[in-house]
Amino acid sequence: MQLLKIYCIYFICTSSLYIFGLKARLMKILAIGRNYAAHIEELNNERPEEPVIFTKPETALLQKNAPFYYPDFSNNIHYEVEIILRICKHGKYIDKKFAHHYFDAIGIGIDFTARDLQDKAKAKGLPWDLAKGFNGSAPISKFIDKNEFKDIKDLNFSLRLDGELKQQGNTSLMLFEFEEIIAYISKFIMLKKGDIIFTGTPKGVGPIAIGNKLEAFIEDEKLLEVDIK
Ligand code: MG
Repeated sequence: MQLLKIYCIYFICTSSLYIFGLKARLMKILAIGRNYAAHIEELNNERPEEPVIFTKPETALLQKNAPFYYPDFSNNIHYEVEIILRICKHGKYIDKKFAHHYFDAIGIGIDFTARDLQDKAKAKGLPWDLAKGFNGSAPISKFIDKNEFKDIKDLNFSLRLDGELKQQGNTSLMLFEFEEIIAYISKFIMLKKGDIIFTGTPKGVGPIAIGNKLEAFIEDEKLLEVDIK
């Protein structure tokens, strides 16, 4: 009887963690670089023939408007505001025409990037992991059911730094749209329920400093706030 009780409590706890998407240990963060033409130009990058994909560990997540603590290994951390997707079922080799079934919600996130570390890595042809995946490098908003938006292929999003508009994007300007990103990634990496995809930043990226406040919006709704400490 006692054992049954313990099992029931365990089952309720673990299943509610899944329902609320909090089983963070089992999720991964995938991201696409160079997905907006004007941003490729501002960093003098080449326009990619195929999506440029990288990952961040789940320890990069910052949720519920938690502050970001500026780390001492970088002097040039940049904000990159991005629309994020929540994956809602497992899939490998997902066909582009079915890819819309694999994400159910949209939010906004910031892909913090240690630009100095990334520039060094790029120059040497080395991986970007530390420049992109450090603690707190992925603040995210809550997720909103994608059906609540009129047209997710024509979504405005933006970022303000201390109240000043710094980045403004529209999902219609992506080089690789949501379905193409999902189809491409899933050829190499199996997508699982709870995974998050960062879909690229528009132009206007720039440095943050201690004391700044970042605010991210989808259309006119503020969904994310990050204080830099
Ligand atoms: Mg980015």
